[in-house]
Amino acid sequence: MMKFCTLASGSSGNSLYLESKYSKILIDAGISLRRISRSLGDMGVALSDLDAVVLSHEHEDHSRALGKMSNVPVYVSGETTSFWEEKRNGDINEKGKKTSGLHDSAQLVEFNSEKSFQIGDLTLTPFSIAHDAIDPVGFTVTDGQSKIGVVTDIGKPTALVVESLKNCDALVLESNHDRNMLLSGPYPPYLRQRISGGQGHLSNDQAAGLLEEVFHEGLKYILLAHLSLTNNTPEMALGCSREVLRRNGAGCHVTVAVAPRKTVGEVVTI
Ligand SMILES: [Zn+2]
Ligand SMILES: [Zn+2]
Repeated sequence: MMKFCTLASGSSGNSLYLESKYSKILIDAGISLRRISRSLGDMGVALSDLDAVVLSHEHEDHSRALGKMSNVPVYVSGETTSFWEEKRNGDINEKGKKTSGLHDSAQLVEFNSEKSFQIGDLTLTPFSIAHDAIDPVGFTVTDGQSKIGVVTDIGKPTALVVESLKNCDALVLESNHDRNMLLSGPYPPYLRQRISGGQGHLSNDQAAGLLEEVFHEGLKYILLAHLSLTNNTPEMALGCSREVLRRNGAGCHVTVAVAPRKTVGEVVTI
């Protein structure tokens, strides 16, 4: 049995808390350490209880807290290790602002993006995703009983993604934008292109298409994540995914929800 909840979800910050009988981890830490600490504290979990922070990719909305996080092993995919080593003392971005970097005492643990690895009683299986980052991955996580799939910041649902997300009990799945809202919205053309291109973010329709391919009787919870504030609404994202479930004859044992942007989401036990 595992429990999970999002601490935040969207372009302003992402973090997912997940615990099993013996292990507590974060997948991504893209909000301030203060918010992470407060959110975990509300659940009775201290920062020092965390066994690891596992990063999907290096973008700041997934890694913001790392500059202040000490004494927690940080798991990064192989090709991003040197990127993080260079950020030990913070970094200056293109606007001349100091970015968060990586805490001096952080212990970097490298994982191969094609191989499963173990954290306590959890087995994490990473899989490469199409996104404009160095070596971005999604994950499935299992404690030997349940399996949770976590994938956001994905340009398109590749065959590897579909294969990886089969037989999950719960999914945390990006449903970033409504294509029409993006195309007719206020974003400049280059940004629209970045988001809708094959290395950007998944639209509601693409998320629904992916769900169609991986849906099975055992899937109990679908959490739609990384929704755009400008180019989506929770109702539209939910509508697309619910339509797939309806077509597949899914009963009321399947829950579909949207991860809140700035607050802690529902704690799901699976
Ligand atoms: Zn992101
Ligand atoms: Zn990203």
